[in-house]
Order: sequence, then C-alpha cells, then structure tokens
Amino acid sequence: MRIVLLGPPGCGKGTQGELIEKKYGFPKVSTGDLLRQTVAEETPLGKRAETQMRHGGLVNDEIVEEMVRERIFKEDCRQGYVLDGFPRNISQAQKLEEMDGNRSEVVIEIHLTEENLIKRLEARRICPRCKSIYNVRAQNPKREGMCNVCGARLIQREDDKKEVIKERLKVYHQQTEPLVGYYQKKKNYRRVNGSGGIETVFRNIYLLLEAEMAESKEKEARR
Ligand code: AMP
Repeated sequence: MRIVLLGPPGCGKGTQGELIEKKYGFPKVSTGDLLRQTVAEETPLGKRAETQMRHGGLVNDEIVEEMVRERIFKEDCRQGYVLDGFPRNISQAQKLEEMDGNRSEVVIEIHLTEENLIKRLEARRICPRCKSIYNVRAQNPKREGMCNVCGARLIQREDDKKEVIKERLKVYHQQTEPLVGYYQKKKNYRRVNGSGGIETVFRNIYLLLEAEMAESKEKEARR
C-alpha cells in the first residue's frame, strides 16, 4: 500500500507520517527530509536544491523524482510506504504512477485553516539529528530546546521563518492544491480535519486506513 499525505506546509504531514510508520511499519518517505540531508552533505545536487528551498520554491522535478525512485524501491518499502511532501504537482503524481503504479494507493489530505498553519509553522522546531518534530506552543520538549529522543539541540528550519512561509503557501496553492481535484477524480482521495490534537488527528487517519485496508483485503479475496 502507498499512503500519500497531502496538505500545505504545517498541516502535520510529518508528525502523522511518523505515527503511521510506527503503527504499520511503512517507512515515511519525506522528500523535504531527503533534500535537507542532501543540502547538509553539500553535494553538487544539494547546492542546487538549497537556493530553491531557501526561497520557498519547489526543487526541480527530476531531482526529487530520482530521490523518491531510489528510496521507494528499497526492501523496507516492499509492504508499503508513506509519502510526505511528494507529489507536489501533477507532473510528479504522474511520474509516481509510472514508477510504481500497481500498488493500492490512498491519498489523505490533512486540512487546516491558513491562520492555524502560520501559527504552527512559526512554532515548529526540528531535531537536525533524528528528525523528530516539535511544536513549542503545544508540547514543549522535556528539556527546553533539546530533542526528547536523541538529546540534540533543536533548530528552526530556515524556511519556517515568516518571510518564507508566505511564499511556500503561495506555491502550495498554485502547484500542489490542484492535486486534490486530480485524486478526487481517481476516487482515492480522503480528507481529515487537521485542527485537533496529534492523537485526535491520528485516530481519524487510523480509522480511515483500517477501512481502506479491510476493503482492499476483501477485493483480493474476491479475485
Ligand atoms: P517540506 O519539508 O516538505 O516542507 O519541504 C521543504 C522544501 O523542500 C520545500 O519547500 C521545497 O523547496 C522542497 N521540496 C520538498 N518536497 C518537494 C517536492 N516533492 N518537489 C519539489 N520540491 C520539494
């Protein structure tokens, strides 16, 4: 199974992706994390990606698609995987189908108002080492500024600063939002309300996934 998490920056895709990974063992594949890793390694590809990321724009499709291709065909993704931040436009969605089209797929949009998104993005801190995500308004780490999981000092992403947030939301509306209509037509689009607490949102995603999995088992049995 492939689970695609859709929604604007700050809606909770990363956090919910981690919870899905824990529950079902499907690795979370975050193109943002993969890109940040490449940038940190200062590879030529990382240097190219960095400028686009710093300004809130999208990185070149070919670069991101190649990263996804490399990741989703690893052994640990065989049973399934969760995509966080990919696809970001219709062309990437089509590419994904070309790459791995036979898999059952469910697309879950996590919906949140723009006001809430901005608040969340400004309060987000991440662990540069283990990639854990925190919201310093909602759940302060046990030791201020430090990761609960691995103890590293938390940082604010460069692109979570106010000036860049606006641009990222604009890019989302222009390029990513059309995917809602695209997946609605394919009839595998679902939507959950992202405004509750982490556990409440996850409960809704879990119920939805259980229903999807039961249905796909039934279909297989009928074959
Ligand atoms: P994210 O962590 O998903 O918010 O992504 C951070 C940044 O990485 C985005 O603002 C883009 O610059 C870049 N990025 C992540 N995923 C993609 C993608 N699928 N296509 C193009 N750029 C991406």
